[in-house]
Order: sequence, then structure tokens, then C-alpha cells
Amino acid sequence: MNPARQSKLDAQQVVLQNRLVPVRKMLQACIQCGTCTGSCPNAAAMDVTPRYMWRLVLMGDADRIFHTSTFALCSTCYTCALRCPRGLPLTDAMSALKQIAAAENLALYKSGSRFYAAFMESVRRHGRVREMEFMTLYFLSMKNPLVPLKFIPLGMRLMAKGKIAIEIPSRGTGRLEALFRQVKALEDHP
Ligand code: SF4
Ligand code: SF4
Repeated sequence: MNPARQSKLDAQQVVLQNRLVPVRKMLQACIQCGTCTGSCPNAAAMDVTPRYMWRLVLMGDADRIFHTSTFALCSTCYTCALRCPRGLPLTDAMSALKQIAAAENLALYKSGSRFYAAFMESVRRHGRVREMEFMTLYFLSMKNPLVPLKFIPLGMRLMAKGKIAIEIPSRGTGRLEALFRQVKALEDHP
């Protein structure tokens, strides 16, 4: 690997390590009992179980953490957090990892981050998701004309069943702008 690329990767590792510090604090009392893994409905699809993920976080292994599918597959159901015998905020910890991956624009998670961003943009504009607009925003953000092609059969089936309507994308009413601005300010300066 050329030295410039290696130094960029090293710098990114340092940033990720620093960003992991508050997540590690959330998990300090973990006793590795595995109840979270046993309770997680998505654990079978994850390449690293939730219990193992917490171990990686406690060890500060940013490289392995940000090469797993685990936090990206968390569906925020809160079952693990409800059952953890130490009462740890496990769903928040998974969300924090998602936020780090999005903030650092990590290539492996770009698709998921842009999907969430397009979803929230549609909610910001209209107070609810407009499916056609949401998917259009997502496809545009992916900047790859091949991405929409694989969704065409699904889109046709959903339209045939009346599950999605053709709506012209619009900027919306702007009534939620103040709310979104306030949430952003809280996120930037918690
Ligand atoms: S259930 Fe709680 S204490 Fe047990 S492994 Fe999971 S996070 Fe750790
Ligand atoms: S919140 Fe996420 S990690 Fe926890 S049980 Fe649900 S899907 Fe699994």
C-alpha cells in the first residue's frame, strides 16, 4: 500500500478510536453473559454477535467493529436493552456505532447511511415518508444508475397492489424545519 494511503487509514483509525470512547463508557459494566445475543431477533444474520461486538468495543478494536454487519443489521427493537441484567443501553450503543459510520462516511456503510438520510429528508419535507420520493432521493444519492434497476420488479409489484403511489417530489411545507434544526443543534452540542 502506498504511504499516503496508509497514513490516511492510520489517521482514520485514530478518529474512530476517539469516537468509540463514549460507546465504551456505555458498556463498561458488561459481564459478557450473552443474554443480548440470545435475545436478538437479528443475531443469526449478523456476522458478529451483539455480545462479541461489546467485547470488541471494550477492547477498542475499531478496525474489526467497522468491518462487521452487526450494528447495520440492528433493527432497534430494544429487546437486548430490556433483558440485559446490567441494564446497559445496548440499542443506544448500536445506534451510536451507526452514527459513527455515517459521520465518518465509511464506504461499507454508505448505502445504509444514505438510505436513512433519504428517509429523514422525506419526513422533514412532509411530516411522513412519501415512498416514491424517498426512493428517488436514495437513488440520486447513490449516484449509480444501476442501483434502481434491481428495485424495478419490487416497485412494480408494490404499485400494482396500491402500496405506493406516484407522487411528484416537492420541497414540502417547511413546517418541520424548526424542529429538525433544533434536533441537529442538540446532536451537534449534546
Ligand atoms: S446482556 Fe448485557 S451484560 Fe450480558 S453480554 Fe449483553 S451487554 Fe453484556
Ligand atoms: S436492539 Fe438491535 S441488537 Fe438489540 S435485540 Fe434488537 S435488533 Fe438486536
